[in-house]
Amino acid sequence: IENAQGQDAEVLLAAPRGFCAGVDRAIEIVERALAKFGAPIYVRHEIVHNTYVVNDLKAKGAIFIEELDDVPPGATLIFSAHGVPKAVQREAQQRGFRIFDATCPLVSKVHVEVAKLHRQGYEFIMIGHKRHPEVEGTLGQLPPGTIHLVETEEDVQRVQPSQTEKLAVVTQTTLSVDDAASITAAVKARFPQVRQPKQQDICYATQNRQDAVKVMSPKVDVVIVVGSPTSSNSNRLREVARRLGTESYMVDSAEDLRPEWVQGKSRIGLTAGASAPDILVRQVIERLRALGAVSVRTLEGVQESMKFPLPKGLKLDGQEAS
Ligand code: SF4
Repeated sequence: IENAQGQDAEVLLAAPRGFCAGVDRAIEIVERALAKFGAPIYVRHEIVHNTYVVNDLKAKGAIFIEELDDVPPGATLIFSAHGVPKAVQREAQQRGFRIFDATCPLVSKVHVEVAKLHRQGYEFIMIGHKRHPEVEGTLGQLPPGTIHLVETEEDVQRVQPSQTEKLAVVTQTTLSVDDAASITAAVKARFPQVRQPKQQDICYATQNRQDAVKVMSPKVDVVIVVGSPTSSNSNRLREVARRLGTESYMVDSAEDLRPEWVQGKSRIGLTAGASAPDILVRQVIERLRALGAVSVRTLEGVQESMKFPLPKGLKLDGQEAS
């Protein structure tokens, strides 16, 4: 790749990018369960929304299912990082599976918060994407009719809570920070007494990856996001770049990268969603090099040190799971 002046192109890597602590933990739970109990291990829904990760675990003996009916009696079952409705949790327990919960602790935190406020009589407006499993899991923490899902500012005008005295906002963890802020403002404008979470529900990884794209976008001619089409936070990264006026594309693997996206560009920005493994980023870099990029530079960004403990019962070789 070289630009119109014949200069060679460089690749700028966003920081931070790729795996977050919740994804790391979820994958490790499946791997440890496979090592400890042997294949097959059943996983409800894609453990994280990434094709490479799911195929890799399938090859190691994980079976991904959507319905508990597809899990045989006595099997080991893992809930995905996105979380599950209470009813699914109850049913899985009743069926007697050996269960490990890979729900990200930051999603569980939201579940705990809505349950607590519900006991105090609150009703909720949830900002999130319809049918995303995390949203279904959070909606499923409470009886129907107590959480109202809104996706847009227009939805906020249509929502009909049964009372407005005790109303709280809750959001999906992987939203666009900017969209969530404007939709929350619309909720506040319509229901001024609404209660907002003390700390926003959007997680640190989503915030940091979007911030990194905001830093990178003005410095580059195109932004490539590594992530699967089902990954909410990866889609948001592409949107963030586009909104800043930078061309942006998402690739599930290096083969998806079309040469015409980078032809004639001198600076190519590269990032990865929270569920996209580093190997895919390295493969995209190789492909960019094959297309003519000569150098790779990582931009400065915040350092992440978040790490979540594993659930009990997954220790290996006599070591306590840390
Ligand atoms: Fe948890 Fe955020 Fe990662 Fe989702 S993106 S798994 S909420 S840390």
